[in-house]
Amino acid sequence: MKKYAVITMDVEDFYHTYFPEMNVDRSQSLLDGLDVALDIMDKKNIKGSFFVVGEIADMLAEKIKAMDANGHDIACHNWVHLRPVTMGIDKYKEQLIRAKDKLEEILGHKVNGYRAPSFGIDDEHYEAMIDCGFKYDSSKLKPQKSSKYGVLNLNGFKEIFPCIYRRDDFIEFEVSTQKIGDMNMLLGGGYIRMLPWPFMKWMTKKYLKTGQPYVMYIHPIDLSPKPMPRVEGVSFDRYLRTHIGRGDMVKRFSAVIEMLEKEGYEFVTFEQLRKMELER
Ligand SMILES: [Zn+2]
Repeated sequence: MKKYAVITMDVEDFYHTYFPEMNVDRSQSLLDGLDVALDIMDKKNIKGSFFVVGEIADMLAEKIKAMDANGHDIACHNWVHLRPVTMGIDKYKEQLIRAKDKLEEILGHKVNGYRAPSFGIDDEHYEAMIDCGFKYDSSKLKPQKSSKYGVLNLNGFKEIFPCIYRRDDFIEFEVSTQKIGDMNMLLGGGYIRMLPWPFMKWMTKKYLKTGQPYVMYIHPIDLSPKPMPRVEGVSFDRYLRTHIGRGDMVKRFSAVIEMLEKEGYEFVTFEQLRKMELER
C-alpha cells in the first residue's frame, strides 16, 4: 500500500469545541478557520474529509456544497456536538438521522462518513450509527488516559492495514497517535497547537517513518485568526487552554503538510480510501 495522508476537520464553532454543554453566546464565530484550512489545502490541491455538525449545516450550506463540488468529502459530526455516550440510543439515532438527512438534502447525495464528537462513542452507539446508514467512521483512537473518550472494541472487525479496520463493507479509520511511554499521544487537533512544536514535530516524524496511513484532525478554532471570545463563567485556566498557540498554528499546519510531502505521502479523502478498499 502507498503512503496515504488524510487531512480531516471537525467543522464546528468554538462553542462546540470547548463549551459543548454550556449555553454560550453564539453571536461570535471562529468558523472562518475553515476558510484558512481550505486556502492552504487548495493551493496544494489537497482534498480532505470534513465532519460537519448538523445544527450549523444550513448556515454553511453554500460553502459545503462548493467544497463537495470541489472534491472534498463532506461527512457527519452529529446534529449537536455532544458525546454519543451521554445520550440514550433512541435520542442518539434521532439526532444522527436528522444531521445525515440535512447534509444529504444540502448536497443532493448520500453522506457516508461519520465521526463522534470528542471521540465519545462506545460499541453500542457505534452499532446504532451503522444502523443509520453510514459506510465509514473515524472515531477510533488508541486507548487514551482521559475518560472523556469512549472505548471502541470494534467487535468482528479485522485490521486490514495498520489503523484501518473493516467488517463487511464498513470501514473504520483510526485517528493517528504516537506511543510515547505508556501514552498514545494524539497527532492532531489542539495538540498540534498546544504542545511545544519541536516535540510535536519529532513525534510526527517518528510516526511518518513507519509509512502507516496518517490521519490528522483539526478544528476551525485552531486556525481562525480571530481572538478567542471570552466566555462568562469560564476560568482563566480554561480560557488559556483554548487560546494557547493559536498565533502559530497556520505555520504548524503548513509544516506538517510539508513533512508529509517530503515523506512521499499522497493526500486522499476517507471516501476515496473507502472506495479503493472496496474495489481491492
Ligand atoms: Zn468535534
